[in-house]
Amino acid sequence: MKPVIALVGRPNVGKSTLFNRLTRSRDALVADLPGLTRDRHYGEGRVGERPFLVIDTGGFEPVAKEGILHQMAKQTKQAVAEADVVIFLVDGRQGMTPHDKTITDFLRKSGRPVILVVNKAEGMRHTAVVADFYELGMGEPAVISSAHGDGVADLVELALDTA
Ligand code: GDP
Ligand code: MG
Repeated sequence: MKPVIALVGRPNVGKSTLFNRLTRSRDALVADLPGLTRDRHYGEGRVGERPFLVIDTGGFEPVAKEGILHQMAKQTKQAVAEADVVIFLVDGRQGMTPHDKTITDFLRKSGRPVILVVNKAEGMRHTAVVADFYELGMGEPAVISSAHGDGVADLVELALDTA
């Protein structure tokens, strides 16, 4: 079985941009993935000789008056349950938000290996973009730009080594 990477994070952090970058050289619609739900959010990628599956999620859309955990689509919970490793994206331009903390709590309870990743970091000093996120207690964040590709190959190698 190919390792499964789930992309998780609040809306607008760049999950789908990363998903598209990881899967763009291949057909992002995977016809037959044994054991996994067939869904347009599943794609196949490869870094070097290492193939992997990646799951995009959009299920953290918050709605006023209700807790974010109640708003999480089943799809996202399922993606985390199916994942060998979770890439947890945060936004280096916007900085930390309460939703990031809530998602951190959820991911910690899931027991899955999680890599915290600060996205949108093109043109920014790494030490500055990560500083905000140490308090999540997930260690040294990886730093990428999904839009430009900076750090993405290294991140996938790390994810596959962690899976
Ligand atoms: P999602 O809601 O997490 O799937 O986020 P999207 O992939 O739809 O991206 C949300 C917005 O952030 C879009 O306008 C993207 O173009 C932008 N974005 C995504 N990645 C980057 C990045 O690396 N740098 C910058 N500056 N913008 C990005
Ligand atoms: Mg998206």
